[in-house]
Amino acid sequence: MSSDNVRGTVRDMPPPAIMRQMFAGYRMTQALYVAAKLGVADLLKDEPKTSSELAKSLGVHSDLLQRVLRLLASLGVFTEVEDGRFTLTPLAALLQSDVSGSMRALAILEGEWYEPAWSALLNSVNTGTPGFEQVFGMKLFPYLAQHPHAAEVYNAAMAGATSAETLEIPAAYDFSDVQTLVDVGGGQGALLATILTAHPHVRGVLLDHPAVIESARRVLEANGVWSRCTLVAGDFFVAVPVGGDVYVLKWVLHDWDDEDALRILRTCRRAMGQQAKLLVMEKIIPANNEPSYAQLSDLNMFILYGGRERTEREYRRLLATAGFTLTRVIPTSAPAWNRVSVIEGTPA
Ligand code: SAH
Repeated sequence: MSSDNVRGTVRDMPPPAIMRQMFAGYRMTQALYVAAKLGVADLLKDEPKTSSELAKSLGVHSDLLQRVLRLLASLGVFTEVEDGRFTLTPLAALLQSDVSGSMRALAILEGEWYEPAWSALLNSVNTGTPGFEQVFGMKLFPYLAQHPHAAEVYNAAMAGATSAETLEIPAAYDFSDVQTLVDVGGGQGALLATILTAHPHVRGVLLDHPAVIESARRVLEANGVWSRCTLVAGDFFVAVPVGGDVYVLKWVLHDWDDEDALRILRTCRRAMGQQAKLLVMEKIIPANNEPSYAQLSDLNMFILYGGRERTEREYRRLLATAGFTLTRVIPTSAPAWNRVSVIEGTPA
């Protein structure tokens, strides 16, 4: 089933059916979560299996597993072949653990943490408090610092998402004149590894929390670019390394409200020379309510961190307030629905 078929089906349905489909979003989230958490896709890697074979090796209830997999098969995730055996589809393949761009950890994050946090959306709208904080007692980053298992799932989810979505960036932006790139809040180094692989003359500096840069080191080593990298454990509200000609903030500003985003931008501005460039990489909210993942991500950023996605106009204003001129917005070639853009700023 192609994604066009899925969208076409929804478009052709009468309004009450479309409403029902939208209401049931959480049911799909939970079914995907169960399949991901149990590792069903990994068990189907080599050969199709029946739900009772799967249930036996997983120690779960066979009839219920069959009904979960049937629901997912109706959505194009898994196919039921002869004798009730299930097999992988391109969607189900993304739920495997060890594939490039794996979405297994993200499915677990969505089902186990994001959805419970979203259940407090009404209260968020009433009170202005992020849902995650209401449900789990604190915002997401402090929670991860205290819950190693959640942090492991979160880091794996981010690594999967970022490895798939950063591949377009070296083609979109010309890094050929760059000597030193500072990746502020660079996470596990997927973007730095991608850029350094494409540009053998570039040196990279990655700043993040101490626990995060340990896994960045492994990613940079595995990609053979470690000799050109420096890792800095630090706090981007306090200071970022000086001396870069490009400062990248990818998926960082959307974690924060305007006040905190300005603090981060000003810390970068202080470290940057007059010729250095700022590259903010984010999904931009389309001006005309065109459907995109940006609006869905926007509220998620609030629920989890008190953050937000922004329109191009909002980025222009934010950068100006922090002492930058927005010079260009360069979209990557990814499909518009979930596209990261490179927002370039120069010191004003
Ligand atoms: N740029 C990466 C990671 C984005 S997630 C990517 O695109 O995948 C945001 C990152 O900001 C996380 O890695 C988080 O650890 C880091 N972060 C959060 N608060 C920080 C702080 N005060 N100082 C430095 N890094 C921080």
